[in-house]
Amino acid sequence: MNAEILAVGHELLMGEIVDTNSSYIAQQLAGTGIDVQWMSHIGDDIGHLSDAFKRGIERSDIVISTGGLGPTSDDLTREAVARAVGEEMAVDPDTLAWLEGVFTRRGMEMPRTNVKQATLIPSATSIPNPNGTAPGWWVEKNGRHIVILPGPPREIGQIWEQTVGPRLAEMSGAGVISTRTLKTYGLSEGRMDELLSDLFGRENPYLGIYAHADGIHLRMIGRGPSRSAADKAIEPVESEIRQRIGDIIWGTDDDTPARRAGTLLVERGQTLGVLEGASAGALAAMLHARPERESFFRGALVPGSGPVHAGHEPASVDSNGAIILAQLARESLTADIGLSVTPVTSETGATSAGGVFIGMASDAGTHVATGQFPRRNAEWVMQRSATMAIVELLSALSSNRI
Ligand code: ATP
Repeated sequence: MNAEILAVGHELLMGEIVDTNSSYIAQQLAGTGIDVQWMSHIGDDIGHLSDAFKRGIERSDIVISTGGLGPTSDDLTREAVARAVGEEMAVDPDTLAWLEGVFTRRGMEMPRTNVKQATLIPSATSIPNPNGTAPGWWVEKNGRHIVILPGPPREIGQIWEQTVGPRLAEMSGAGVISTRTLKTYGLSEGRMDELLSDLFGRENPYLGIYAHADGIHLRMIGRGPSRSAADKAIEPVESEIRQRIGDIIWGTDDDTPARRAGTLLVERGQTLGVLEGASAGALAAMLHARPERESFFRGALVPGSGPVHAGHEPASVDSNGAIILAQLARESLTADIGLSVTPVTSETGATSAGGVFIGMASDAGTHVATGQFPRRNAEWVMQRSATMAIVELLSALSSNRI
């Protein structure tokens, strides 16, 4: 079976957004054994869009699109599919009732323009969208399939897991799919590839390696006639990976560094205070978002340009300075563990571009890690420094360095 992916939207052609939807879908299809042969970006133009769908069903078994399902007049994907298969759109009463319910629960009246989100064509069934107001369509005609999905990535992930992924897996004969992601820190993609080279290239489970802000992720996709068979396909490879690099795995599946840190600190009965010279509050925001924050998070010091606390500042932030600042966070926020994330500075106070020190201090000891980020905008560096600080904290906690 083969497929093609259409990413719809003028924003893509203007270079304003990056098409992560197509790569997400391509990754998912790889796991079901469906070959992706084409990927295209198309603007919000009814003629171009319907041509793309027509061409798609001539040459591919399955055409999957994202975007253009909103309520406005430039959201034209439904109209384009209707034109491509020569059918008329009509309001589907069940979908309309569901959509009105979504607005009622939000305490709003549904604008008339949203009615078009409740339409279908005769050969389409509705694909539920639990996170938005735009349900997808699954069109089946003359042995070909068109699946249209909304644009927002958050909506697509859930729709895929609940509806599209399982149905495609069944169609492709892949049966049930099970996935497992192991999240790691401290090794480069290349080194990881070397250590696990014999495990790549297998069909079941398929093992993929992906670089993310919080480290390298290893994703296994297992297949089998049932959920337990698919899980079983993953087991031996997961345990082999854990045997080889278990000490650098900090989380699995939906774990985020902040969630893992919250869980670990609560389990250990420890509290955390942070000082954020490099991340300017981004770290506090991540920790503060945890529902269990009151049990572990004591707060953050976010220095502006002035001194943090007279008498405590190191003249320059080197590894020793990073520890002094971690101690400062620990003492002034009365926490068990102090964590500092500060730009590397010289004696003159000049900041080294993209360099950060992450200092940690507790009764059990102190630890320092360094990071170097490429020159990008300040907000990007702040987010990356915050993520890195939590991942380094997880590493130090699990190896009992602090
Ligand atoms: P909405 O009802 O939100 O308008 P929609 O189905 O019409 O949904 P679009 O308007 O095309 O979707 O896109 C909405 C948002 O989703 C975009 O502004 C963008 O942030 C994100 N998005 C759309 N397409 C992609 C894509 N291919 N990759 C990543 N993000 C995307």
